[in-house]
Amino acid sequence: MTMPSVKRVLLKLSGEVLMGGQQFGIDPTIVSELAREVKAAKDSGLEICLVIGGGNIFRGMAGAAQGMDRAQADYMGMLATVMNALAMQNALEQLGVHTRVQSAVQMDQVCEPVIRRRAERHLEKGRIVIFAAGVGSPYFTTDSGAALRAAEMKCDALLKGTSVDGVYDDDPKKNSNATRFETVSYDRVLADNLKVMDASAVALCRDNDIPIVVFSIREKGNLARVLSGEGVQTIVQ
Ligand code: UDP
Repeated sequence: MTMPSVKRVLLKLSGEVLMGGQQFGIDPTIVSELAREVKAAKDSGLEICLVIGGGNIFRGMAGAAQGMDRAQADYMGMLATVMNALAMQNALEQLGVHTRVQSAVQMDQVCEPVIRRRAERHLEKGRIVIFAAGVGSPYFTTDSGAALRAAEMKCDALLKGTSVDGVYDDDPKKNSNATRFETVSYDRVLADNLKVMDASAVALCRDNDIPIVVFSIREKGNLARVLSGEGVQTIVQ
């Protein structure tokens, strides 16, 4: 299956890829490497929106499991995504790439609020827009934030860079016979509860005809390979 032809993409990176080999937090060396990959994609002519998760710092569900109020814990998770966004902004700007961070939770001293028309202008000017704080509400994830921004920014695809190289019919870490899909439908992902993104994110992509390209961002150069159609990935469409 070939990659859909894309001009504008939303790249979603799980927070955990920013940890590198660490158990927690941000590894600046890894963030720089990721920034180089993002720059290469931009230099190839793409318009790029970025969403980065927060799971390397804090997940609301984990807090709730330890007795915290879920919504309160989710707000902490959203703040974690802002930290990751700032780390990525720093790494990109060190490479000379112009960026803006827009947060769904207002933080005037730190970044812009999410304003779609302003984000549009940033992209026109060749900047990368990093959308932080997901959708700005608890009980959601940054996958849903990514799907929402991909829809409102009219992105041609949502690229989900994660630690596995696609979508499998079973957990490849637990079952060595699990097989990877080349393509799979949104409805199959939802019906079989396949581990791609949460259901609300998949449904939003389905309803807006946004293909989801799941690939491993852990392998160097993989983003470029996936974009050129030479990579290993699963396309949900
Ligand atoms: N979060 C939220 N609303 C959002 C986006 C994120 O409450 O719209 C919180 C939620 O607690 C989530 C955490 O932020 O667990 C970090 O985001 P996510 O788990 O999506 O990060 P990832 O798994 O991609 O690293």
